[in-house]
Amino acid sequence: MSANAYPLGLRLAGLRVVVVGGGTVATRRVPALLDADADVLLVAPELTPALRAHVDAGRLRWVPRRFAADDLDGAWLVQVAIDDPAAAAEVSAAAAARRIFCVRADDRNAATAWTPAVTRYGPVTVAVHGGGDPRRAVSVRDAVRTLLQGRTGPLLTDPVIQASLRTPRSGTGQVFLVGAGPGDPELVTLKGWRLLSEADVVVADRLVPGLLLDELRTGVELVDASKIPYGPSRTQEEINRILVDRALAGASVVRLKGGDPYVFGRGGEELLACTAAGVPVTVVPGVTSSIAAPAAAGIPVTHRSVAHEFTVVSGHVAPESPHSLVRWEALARLRGTLVILMGLKNLPSITNTLVAHGREAGTPAAVVQEATTGGQRIVRSTLGEVADAVTAAGLRPPAVVVVGDVVEALESAELS
Ligand code: SAH
Repeated sequence: MSANAYPLGLRLAGLRVVVVGGGTVATRRVPALLDADADVLLVAPELTPALRAHVDAGRLRWVPRRFAADDLDGAWLVQVAIDDPAAAAEVSAAAAARRIFCVRADDRNAATAWTPAVTRYGPVTVAVHGGGDPRRAVSVRDAVRTLLQGRTGPLLTDPVIQASLRTPRSGTGQVFLVGAGPGDPELVTLKGWRLLSEADVVVADRLVPGLLLDELRTGVELVDASKIPYGPSRTQEEINRILVDRALAGASVVRLKGGDPYVFGRGGEELLACTAAGVPVTVVPGVTSSIAAPAAAGIPVTHRSVAHEFTVVSGHVAPESPHSLVRWEALARLRGTLVILMGLKNLPSITNTLVAHGREAGTPAAVVQEATTGGQRIVRSTLGEVADAVTAAGLRPPAVVVVGDVVEALESAELS
């Protein structure tokens, strides 16, 4: 038989696909079928917990017994995910009798269809057949994936490849509010990275990892939002105007923000400005420093039997200010973890307020500066003394303050 498969993209929405077997192979196969909106019928006496979760959620139907030929009635495709060769051959025979393509996990030579190794990149799907050798298919797929997601190489430099990969656009452009993560350029999401590498215009914050910008393709217009002259509110208006103008001119605009766009990032204001101007916006969440900075210092924001909550609060406005929207006296009565962003300037007043309203001065506290970057510094102290410790150590923003017993939860562990 020829080793050359005829490649096809099956459009399975609403079409019956029978999966025979309820083990690890079926567990791996089912998600892509569900993603294609196939009408999945699972035939197996027992299921893995992951498959059972799909059944419980109503995403597929389960026939809890061994395969019977009638299970294939109405099916367009069957996936055999069982080890028993005799039972698998029985499914193959029933499929062939009904002219239904049959994928065999146990014996590819007995199959009438092969599943390729797949990688996805936005709207693009790459499927690789290895000429009969699945390992070859996987290694080529991995190489293609590296190329597509890569930060160097032809995709970033070759305008033809770049243009062909982009989602076709008509008329108005689009704005993507993308979270860049806390600092380490590897902590941007895959989606964020793809949009960045496709963007015509990137509007970046001061807190955005510089290394990410360094890796943008040539030809992209980079707007440094921190260099826009004017005061804070005019600057925001100006940023909104740039986003809207460029998008209305047809550009794909990435508004790149430190951490997550919606955690003290003014992402909501920018979204409102864009939608008011009729510009479509997509929000791509990011790894927020409120969780990542403690983690980088070996501090979990929750820990079993230590803290069942964490509260993220801005320390930008001093507790005594009439403009404060934070009930510091209520926060002082919480037992769990308190994470304070933008809190260095007001740290003495914040810690005094917390202690005055009941939080123990001896509660462990830590401050993490420039987390996940080469400039990361950590100071460990207590709530009562952390403000002085920060001054003594000369810590600077950006820094995250963590208060709570979680600061010591992992102290006995060897961390790398
Ligand atoms: N949207 C961002 C937060 C913006 S507010 C996020 O989700 O992370 C800016 C504050 O975030 C800084 O003052 C500091 O408190 C915190 N911050 C951001 N990046 C940081 C980092 N790498 N290390 C420590 N703190 C950071």
